[in-house]
Amino acid sequence: MNVVLLGIPGSGKGTQANFLKKRLKLKAILTGDLLREAVEKGTKLGEDAKEFMEKGDLVPDQIILDLIEEKIKEQQKNFSGFVLDGFPRTLPQAEGLDLLLERTGKSLDYAIKLNLPKERALKRLEGRLVCPFCEAFYNLETNPPKKDLLCDFCAKKLIRRSDDKKDLIATRIQVYQKKTEPVEDYYQKQGKLKIVDGDGKADLVFERILAVLKK
Ligand code: AMP
Repeated sequence: MNVVLLGIPGSGKGTQANFLKKRLKLKAILTGDLLREAVEKGTKLGEDAKEFMEKGDLVPDQIILDLIEEKIKEQQKNFSGFVLDGFPRTLPQAEGLDLLLERTGKSLDYAIKLNLPKERALKRLEGRLVCPFCEAFYNLETNPPKKDLLCDFCAKKLIRRSDDKKDLIATRIQVYQKKTEPVEDYYQKQGKLKIVDGDGKADLVFERILAVLKK
């Protein structure tokens, strides 16, 4: 099964991508994580992406499409499909993905939109923490760590993401509304869009996603 996750920043895509990865053995491809890793390592991709990310803006489509092509073509032996989080974020990316899948003999089954009002997303982003080591996401409200502010998996101290600052959050949400909402219509027309209520605890939202995938 091949799935795309959509939803404004803070709607819980990263957390749900990880749940889907574990439960359905999907390969999780998170463009935001891949880009942050590239920036940290100082690779060519990181250098190209950095200035856009620091402004809360989108990285140019072709850079992202090349990255996705590389990841989708990688060995899929132990996986039963993929889940894409943070991609596609523009219409050209969605069209590029369709062409890429066609070329590689694959197809997309569902685009799942995690629906969350902007005010709720803002509140969540303010409480969002991430493990600097394994990049697991937490939220003080919906998905808190089991112990203090430490990662459940590697016990490292959790930190805030550098683009989770108030002004950048507002920009990222605006960018979503302007550039990514048309992607929702694109999948709606293809009959692949499934809208899931993204409010509530992470495991409850996951049950809703599984229910949609079973239909
Ligand atoms: P995320 O972790 O998905 O919120 O992504 C963090 C940042 O990485 C975004 O604000 C963008 O600057 C960049 N980014 C991630 N995915 C994409 C994409 N599909 N297209 C363009 N830029 C992206």
